[in-house]
Order: sequence, then C-alpha cells, then structure tokens
Amino acid sequence: MANSKFEYVREFEQPDYLLRNTWIVVRVDGRAFTKMCARYGFEKPNDRRALDVMNAAAKAVVADLPEITIAYGVSDEYSFVLHKSCNLFERRASKLVSTIASTFTANYVHCWPNYFPGTPLSFPLPTFDGRAVCYPTIQNLRDYMSWRQADCHINNLYNTTFWSLVQLGGLDNKEAEKTLAGTLAADKNEILFSRFKINYNNEPEIFKKGSVVFRDYELVDPESHKTSDAVDALAEPVEQSKTQNENDKKRRSKARIVVEHLDIIRDDFWDQRPWILS
Ligand code: ATP
Ligand code: ATP
Ligand code: MG
Ligand code: MG
Ligand code: MG
Ligand code: MG
Repeated sequence: MANSKFEYVREFEQPDYLLRNTWIVVRVDGRAFTKMCARYGFEKPNDRRALDVMNAAAKAVVADLPEITIAYGVSDEYSFVLHKSCNLFERRASKLVSTIASTFTANYVHCWPNYFPGTPLSFPLPTFDGRAVCYPTIQNLRDYMSWRQADCHINNLYNTTFWSLVQLGGLDNKEAEKTLAGTLAADKNEILFSRFKINYNNEPEIFKKGSVVFRDYELVDPESHKTSDAVDALAEPVEQSKTQNENDKKRRSKARIVVEHLDIIRDDFWDQRPWILS
C-alpha cells in the first residue's frame, strides 16, 4: 500500500521490547475487587467459587498461550511466567500484557456462570490490570514465585483470624483489627485454636497455598538424576539435538493442564518437574 501523508505518526510509537533471555512474568490483578466482593456477595475470607473462576480463566490463558510455562494465582491476582526463550509478539510488553489481561478477563466473564449460577454479572463488570516484569535468573524467578506464595500465606492467616473474630467471635471490624494489631503468626494460630478450635493447618490447601497451573508431565525422581560417581560428574553434558528439543517442547505443550495447590517455595516442586524451567 502506498504511504499516506499521515503515515509519519507511526514514528511516535515507543518500542517496548522486553530484555532478551530473561523470564517474563505478567501479573494481572482484579480492579477494585474489594468492592466486587460486596457487590457479588463473596464469602469472607475465602469465596471458593470466586477462586474457581480465577483458576478456570487462568487455565484457559495457559491453554491459549503455550509459551506460558507456569502460572500462580491467589486472591484476585494471577502471575503468568513466559520462558526466557519466548519470542511471542517479539517480546513487546504492551502486546503481551494486553493480550494476557484481556484473554484472562474474557475467560473470567465466560466462566463466571458455571460457578455463580444464581448471580449473573452486571455492572460493574470484572476487569483486570496487568504488568510485565523481567527476571534474569531462575533464582530471581523462584524468589518472585515464593514472594507471591508467602504473601498468600501471610494474608490468609490474617484474614482467617480476622473473619473468625468477626463471624464467630462477634467482634466488629475495628475491634478485630485492634485485636490483631502487632500479633505474630504464632499469636494468630493461638487465637484461632484457643477461641474457635480452628487448627489453621487443617484449612483447605487452596486457601493456604494459592493455585499453581502447569502442564502435567511425568514426574522426575530427583534422586535418580544425581550423578553418583566421578566419571559421570566429569562427562560432557549430553547435548540434545535441536529437533529433539523441539519435539520435547511440542509434546509438553500438548500435555494436560492442571491446577494444584502445592508448595512452590521449597525445591521439591521444581526438582520433580525440571521441564517447567528447562
Ligand atoms: P485494586 O484495584 O487496586 O487491585 P482491590 O480492591 O482489587 O483494588 P486488592 O489488593 O487487589 O485490592 O485486593 C483484592 C481484595 O479482594 C482483597 O480484599 C481480597 O481479600 C478480596 N478477594 C479476592 N478474591 C477473593 C475471594 N475469592 N474471596 C473473598 N475475597 C476475595
Ligand atoms: P493480529 O493479532 O496481529 O492483530 P489480525 O488478524 O487481527 O492479527 P489485523 O491487522 O488486526 O490482523 O486485521 C484485522 C482483520 O480483521 C482484517 O483483515 C480486517 O479486515 C478484519 N476485520 C476486522 N473487523 C472487521 C469487520 N467488522 N468486518 C470484516 N472484517 C473485519
Ligand atoms: Mg492492585
Ligand atoms: Mg485487585
Ligand atoms: Mg489483588
Ligand atoms: Mg488484530
């Protein structure tokens, strides 16, 4: 097509290619969900239906974008991890973030009636913001994931205790807040147990740990992969051919997508699934 005299305005666009060879995390977060909770009658502190909608939407996003290697969700947020070798949209931040946020939102709205059959969506409709951050090392990425899961734990222990004081203890919000001011985790566990006979450890895993979405593949026993003798340790690393790598990637991208509530702070999860970060 011939250039028009208007074409120059394209030069105003700013490049936003994310740094190569880094892990990209796109996190979406519900807009004003504190109000949405009241609007749509979410149970406090944890509405299982609302978490199920989040998880269904996240699963759809992972299915739609095979470049996503793992996702982690808690509350009204979800983090999607793109492999450091990912070249989707030439790694342009605005394209990646807007595509993931709108795919997530569209699926959230689509899945809603499955979990809230008696509560149709109306205004305000749920919407999600998004941002992208690059993490240069696997350690940085693991620390990011650990940060979100630790946050989940801290908030859930607080919220569980707070709402027990309100719903079971008859305190008003201000009194509950005051009771919890300056308390440590052990104090909250103690309040839950001594006042309400609630053992925090027995709370559902989905509330305590959040949700991890990934492609299910054969588990690896990390022990059997450790090099046991010196010969192994000195051996050249076995180079897989490019086609072999491509085939592996293809097979993995077809694997079943699962939602689980596992500890992703400790090494076990990652050691048993080395393909997630390989
Ligand atoms: P912003 O637009 O800045 O994100 P927000 O009101 O969404 O504002 P957040 O910090 O994202 O603020 O907090 C989300 C709120 O929604 C929290 O209060 C959280 O407890 C609540 N929430 C999210 N999911 C659930 C759920 N499944 N059940 C009960 N409450 C939930
Ligand atoms: P990308 O994901 O890169 O945007 P795309 O297929 O959406 O890929 P666009 O350049 O955005 O590519 O082009 C949109 C296409 O959809 C065009 O071919 C356009 O003619 C077609 N299209 C959009 N709206 C309509 C419409 N209302 N009626 C008919 N065709 C439409
Ligand atoms: Mg926010
Ligand atoms: Mg929010
Ligand atoms: Mg949030
Ligand atoms: Mg288009």
